[in-house]
Amino acid sequence: MLPSRRIQGVAVAPGLALGRIHVVTPGVDKVPTWSVPASEVAAEMGRLATALTAALAALGRDESLALRHAGEQEASIFAVHRMYLQDPSALRRVEKIISDQRVNAEAAVSMVIESLQESLRNVEGESVRSYAMDVTDPWRRVLDALCATERDEILSTEECVILAAAELTPQVVTYLTPERILGVITESGGRFSHGAVLARSLGLPVVTGLTNLLAGLEPGMEVSVDGDRGAVLLRPSAEDVVRFRQQREQAERRREALERTASQPSVTTDGGRLDVLVNLASVRDLDAFEVSKTDGVGLLRTEFLYMERNQFPSEEEQFRMYRRFLEEFAPRPVTLRLLDIGGDKQLSYFKTPEEMNPALGWRGIRITLEWEDLLRVQLRAILRASVHGVARILIPMVTSAEEVVAIHDLFRALRSELTEQGYLIAEDIPVGIMVEVPSSLMTLPYLAGEVDFVSVGTNDLVQYLLAVDRDNPWVSSLYDPLHPAVLQALNQVAEAAGAAGRPCSVCGDLAADPAVALLLMGLGYDSVSVAWSLVGEIKDTIRRTTLEDARRYAAEVLEQRTSAAVQEVITRVRAELYAGPGS
Ligand code: PEP
Ligand code: MG
Repeated sequence: MLPSRRIQGVAVAPGLALGRIHVVTPGVDKVPTWSVPASEVAAEMGRLATALTAALAALGRDESLALRHAGEQEASIFAVHRMYLQDPSALRRVEKIISDQRVNAEAAVSMVIESLQESLRNVEGESVRSYAMDVTDPWRRVLDALCATERDEILSTEECVILAAAELTPQVVTYLTPERILGVITESGGRFSHGAVLARSLGLPVVTGLTNLLAGLEPGMEVSVDGDRGAVLLRPSAEDVVRFRQQREQAERRREALERTASQPSVTTDGGRLDVLVNLASVRDLDAFEVSKTDGVGLLRTEFLYMERNQFPSEEEQFRMYRRFLEEFAPRPVTLRLLDIGGDKQLSYFKTPEEMNPALGWRGIRITLEWEDLLRVQLRAILRASVHGVARILIPMVTSAEEVVAIHDLFRALRSELTEQGYLIAEDIPVGIMVEVPSSLMTLPYLAGEVDFVSVGTNDLVQYLLAVDRDNPWVSSLYDPLHPAVLQALNQVAEAAGAAGRPCSVCGDLAADPAVALLLMGLGYDSVSVAWSLVGEIKDTIRRTTLEDARRYAAEVLEQRTSAAVQEVITRVRAELYAGPGS
């Protein structure tokens, strides 16, 4: 038997996991393509027929659901989609590709989707674009059914697995249901990429930066993952497993101790307060933790709700989702961020163009202000849901005052439109901006007065301040959230928001470190928003200290000239906080 091997990587999300490995093939987000020998063409046709039946059944289910919850008009869309799938000429095209080109059914279906899209691409007009969506969508369902079968075949065991992949993309994390994943390990993918953010929201241990990981793995190999230290052990020995179990028991005891005090507010011994809210990305997240232990939702990344689907969610669907979040959290606030797609957050049904530099490209509010219909549907759904709790709206990727004005205008117009249509809307729906681009930081003394609150997206702000792509492994060592420039920026935001009398928060993952959350409190932040699994730790840290000490600590950090020096201060403060009895 081969000896165990330890690989050191980057700690991305805390926790411990022990289990068998499942390697996610690099093409998980692409349609798998392979050639099919003549003898297997008939079997491939069989797979296609099964997927077609599954897609038709799913459409039938959606149709009756829509009929019950939304009305006849919405339901009729699904009936039309079923007709498209029953059209023999489209089916013949797919079958012909399988038999002539000898490719698998997934590849053939995706070629037909591509050609349907291509034929309609250059035709102008909104109705044609929605027709393109209508004819291709049912075929996407067939594609989904085919890919799901392949995934089920790979994972036919009931066992939970540790996912291993070349890169930590959102697609890798959403590849399996969270109940089936114990942890995630990858060769590359920064601490602040969207894949990492999503993995953290699942409360799973994650380690990245494991060079040549995949080459050293065999299917089903046992591994242990230490998400706190960024270490992975391949083929742990019996003694390693005993040590691992002891560590896990200790961590469990700590978690239970934190659980007991988690409902208490995070107030310092001299009465200073830092609210601790959660970042969410899916309705599924609601089952993972107790709402009463949080101060609300500081960031609902609504784009992930879109990413879980194979077509744009309708106003009715969105209304139901947002209402669910609002009802669960009431009277705590739920901050709904407007759709922030583009870059590495792609929707399978809305392809943005290939860009040389997607981080500086067509993303966030730039897309939705251009495709205003997307924004209209989302804002209408939010406004309608607003009476079911305490809703706040957050605008992503703001770079100019004009964008804020455009959202305010649309917001006002939709409010009167909905009121005229007889809908009830909450009186007060605060609108805030994300500060994640240097231009919004520089103009914040003016912008802050135009909105109701400010939330700093440090994941993007760091990349734009330091000119370091958050997703590019070649520069990941330069992505330095504790760079003095970042800390000065955070200080500037707190000062500008304070001067305008607006509450300010950090919802980027920098706040996930309890010692950094304390630092933010010292800088004047009112709240942080983090993955739910970190709420207890942060509240515990805040309760161990005074606001006065937090301010002194923040002032000391601002004096440092290098991130190493900043890190030194943070490490010292962390050690002091946990040095006392009962730690
Ligand atoms: C951020 O940029 O810090 C942020 C919270 O948004 P996202 O990570 O979704 O880009
Ligand atoms: Mg961002």
